[in-house]
Amino acid sequence: MSTGRSNSTARTHCPYCSLNCGMDLNVADGTVVGLSRWKGSPLTTGSLCSKGASAFEQIHHKDRLTAPLIRRGTEFHEVSWNEGLDAAIDGFAKIRSEHGAPANALLSGGSLTNEKVYLLGKFARLALGTPNVDYNGRFCMAAAGKANMLAFGADRMMTPLDELRVAEVVVVIGAHISAAFPVALPTLLNHVRKRGGTVIVIDPRAGRFVKDGDIHVALEPGSDAVLFNGLLREIVRQGLVDRDFLENRTVGFSDALSAAMEYDPEFVELVADVPRRLLEKVASLIGGTTKCMFLHGRGPEQQTDGTQNVQSIINVGLACGHVGRPGAGINMLTGQRNGQGGREWGQRCDQLPAGRSILSPDDRSLVADRWGIDEALLPSAGSSYVEILDGVDSGETRGLLTICTNMAVSSPDLTSVRRQLGALEHHVVIDPFMSESARFANVILPGSSFAEESGTITTIEGRVVRIDQAIEPIAGRNDLDILADLAEGLESPVSFRFESEEDIFEEMRAVSKGGPIDYSGITYDRIRDEDGVFWPCPSTDHPGTPQLYTERFAHPDGNARFHPVVPRQLPHETNAEFPLVLTTGRLLAQFLSGNQTGRIERQQRLAPGPYVEIHPSTAAAYQIERDAKVLVTSRQGSVWVPWRPQKGLRHDTLFMPYHWEECNTLVAANLDPASKIPGFKYTPVRIAGTEALDLRESTAEPADSRSSGA
Ligand code: SF4
Repeated sequence: MSTGRSNSTARTHCPYCSLNCGMDLNVADGTVVGLSRWKGSPLTTGSLCSKGASAFEQIHHKDRLTAPLIRRGTEFHEVSWNEGLDAAIDGFAKIRSEHGAPANALLSGGSLTNEKVYLLGKFARLALGTPNVDYNGRFCMAAAGKANMLAFGADRMMTPLDELRVAEVVVVIGAHISAAFPVALPTLLNHVRKRGGTVIVIDPRAGRFVKDGDIHVALEPGSDAVLFNGLLREIVRQGLVDRDFLENRTVGFSDALSAAMEYDPEFVELVADVPRRLLEKVASLIGGTTKCMFLHGRGPEQQTDGTQNVQSIINVGLACGHVGRPGAGINMLTGQRNGQGGREWGQRCDQLPAGRSILSPDDRSLVADRWGIDEALLPSAGSSYVEILDGVDSGETRGLLTICTNMAVSSPDLTSVRRQLGALEHHVVIDPFMSESARFANVILPGSSFAEESGTITTIEGRVVRIDQAIEPIAGRNDLDILADLAEGLESPVSFRFESEEDIFEEMRAVSKGGPIDYSGITYDRIRDEDGVFWPCPSTDHPGTPQLYTERFAHPDGNARFHPVVPRQLPHETNAEFPLVLTTGRLLAQFLSGNQTGRIERQQRLAPGPYVEIHPSTAAAYQIERDAKVLVTSRQGSVWVPWRPQKGLRHDTLFMPYHWEECNTLVAANLDPASKIPGFKYTPVRIAGTEALDLRESTAEPADSRSSGA
């Protein structure tokens, strides 16, 4: 693989969120000593939030793992690379010979480069020989991706975010812009407001980005599809449907409308707690312009009906023709750094690389041909993330390789997850740092930081960008070297040793050619020369495709699909025993399980630990003192946490950031049947107790300065 530099700069992108802010890492004598802003960085033009500005501090952090570790009893011991790799390989080989290849599984992350994602999917299927491979984007983008595929035939943001500059109405649904997308998007929303446009925020919790003059629809948690069915009905009643667009570019409208006709304003008010006049106003704003942009985040998606929730949003957008026009679009806001590329390149249990179907004979045959193997060697679809962990209980999962995913914090139902991790026969973790999950492993192999590798990532907008290696791998091998070593030990039918990341990318281009996610016209040189290239890009003289669907959708007939939405019953509703709803989300200062940001002093100072937000009136009703801890109880468990007042919350809703174990201890592992995304955003809870807080424990800044994302 490519070598790091000595005294130089390396152009890269932030390792955290999907905005992919560009930066130059400054290197002196093999050490990253700081970063410089890259003012030409696409979309974000040199801006960085506090996480990105401090990201380089993780690279040489004292907690970095620098040698393989093997568990002996309850202790980890440093061993040589040969010993660590042999232990990892022997465990998987033993399980494969005794229980069959599917008893091993691989779980990965949404921050990894496209090249790594591609090789991980290939590694699982050929080196481990298992169908059971999935990644933590299952917790993030699965519902939006599924709904987009069903409606449009492709899974990508359809409109470049710069189009917000001309939008007249922006509808933000369950996305806390100020915490989850703190760069570029707040400025673009301000452009809309300054031009006299309207920002509509649909969320049980108002974040700091909600301004005077915006419309905040504080819907009841779990009622997104009820509200959007009601909006579709109301838009039709007001005569705001785009008939030309419906007739020429879509199918299925009448069935979707028939389903929505059940959701009259009285019903919407009863279930979603949205008054008729507000429903009518929002419908008239959405349908009264040709320049309306929808931005949906994890709020509607991380629910047990997440796919239908997104379909209901899409139905409203399609009915008004808000696609492929200036200032219009129905867009999901991808979360993790490579959440987009992470769901394109074959690390999902039901997908081959470049969005090819693992069930399609044509796709299987093409991929097998490009990989130089017999198609019979390719397993079929496997289990999703939570199903793989549940497989430990049934004996179906015995060996697990994980890379850059921390299920002991990020998965739902953590009590079960801890039991499952503890029961694995063989668990190998590749990670730059010890994590809550790695503590259960029997082999830990030190992984690479973002400065120790090259490759590509695909941004929130679908733009493929490059990251350059700044320094040599601190532990002597990077993640791709480790995969190559493991594959050799497992007697993989193909080699995973490549000369460079660019060589991997060349193989990816060939696999993608002519397929649903076509990168074949994108080269490393073009990405650098053009500051990124949007897919689809089917030839090297094609300019790339920033705006999708101007003429056709990606379905074979070119039409978008409406889908009738009939909201499913929630697995557990609130009741007298659990009268409140817990919803969860991000803080600006931390990222995911905090395994990187939690080690950086200034980020930790900003957000040092878990807490729950409660509306002041609700706190008063429960007689909770200002400086107190509260006991929050769900059907899954109970946690003591400090509380903070949050006036932007509904009275019946609590909010907890998900960066610490307390949050997902409360959340059940109920899944959306269509996408297998867990229902993180709706957990019935009660406040079961309160006690005085030891003030020495509470050093967090006020909640208002650390706005979060539901
Ligand atoms: Fe930019 Fe996101 Fe990184 Fe912050 S976390 S610097 S917004 S990419």
